[in-house]
Amino acid sequence: PYDVLIVGGGPAGAAAAIYAARKGIRTGVIADRFGGQVLDTMSIENFISVNETDGPGLAANLEQHVLSYDVDVMNSQKAKKLTAGDLISVELENGATLKSRSVILSTGARWREMNVPGEQEYRGKGVAYCPHCDGPLFKGKRVAVIGGGNSGIEAAIDLAGIVEHVTVLEFSDTLRADAILQRKANSMSNITIIKQALTTDVSGDGQRVTGLNYTDRATNEPHYVELAGIFVQIGLIPNTEWLQGDIELSKHGEIVIDNRGQTSIPGVFAAGDVTTVPYKQIIIAMGAGSTAALSAFDHLIRSPLI
Ligand code: FAD
Repeated sequence: PYDVLIVGGGPAGAAAAIYAARKGIRTGVIADRFGGQVLDTMSIENFISVNETDGPGLAANLEQHVLSYDVDVMNSQKAKKLTAGDLISVELENGATLKSRSVILSTGARWREMNVPGEQEYRGKGVAYCPHCDGPLFKGKRVAVIGGGNSGIEAAIDLAGIVEHVTVLEFSDTLRADAILQRKANSMSNITIIKQALTTDVSGDGQRVTGLNYTDRATNEPHYVELAGIFVQIGLIPNTEWLQGDIELSKHGEIVIDNRGQTSIPGVFAAGDVTTVPYKQIIIAMGAGSTAALSAFDHLIRSPLI
């Protein structure tokens, strides 16, 4: 069996693997896609100490760093079932079952998409999902935020300090964001909130986003808004479908952890975007992965040898 088996090969899983391997314990990583969300990122400007890098470059560095240690990396493999026990079992979609004395879950998350024409074509060319990451790219420009929940209104307030103007488009006739956020957004002169707006497509000039079309659901009238950027804030979905019923999840489906990365199952830790950690960022996921690996090691040295 492994001493530590890590499920997920994004920044959290890579950091966990390096911290575990450096303890000289038997470490394995299962990754559906090594690199994770980082592979889909164009420019990264907030990875502290590196002024600017790109996703594929950072993903390649992650893999190289992990492989410089004695770690079994099983790429293009998907976990489908976790079973608790003295030895924890992880069943893979290919039929194999791996056993380990401790497990770190770092399967990440994915942004909910609008599923409208133009969204994929202009992803990274004006269509963005992370205001902390991409907000500064739209300095002085006009942008939209899709979604009037807490993350949408927080994004609008955040962006309003950087960009020229923010249009918030909410599908329903009410905003779901907390009243205090709504008050703040309403008090800002460069935020316009439009309710009952169904975004129908993203338009662009072939290179970049130039605007979006929406339908006013009250009147059925079509409208066009000229924009340089669209921030889609309609939810971040944790990759925990395969864990449902086996481990404690929050109402949003995130793995509930304490400040050591411990989950509801002894010997099972979790890190990164898949957890209840506030703020989903590369550097935060790496810190959390390191914490989870140190906690797993601490668990192992207190456990009877199996
Ligand atoms: P992920 O990166 O999501 O990795 C999850 C890993 O788990 C992957 O290897 C995946 O294949 C694997 N996996 C999932 N399910 C299974 C399964 N069942 N079995 C096996 N493996 C599985 N953050 C920043 O700090 N700066 C930025 O500029 C930035 N820009 C971004 C731009 C975009 C377009 C996106 C989508 C995200 C951006 N982020 C940015 C956020 C950042 O990418 C994430 O916070 C970070 O990647 C989270 O790391 P993670 O390891 O928790 O999860």
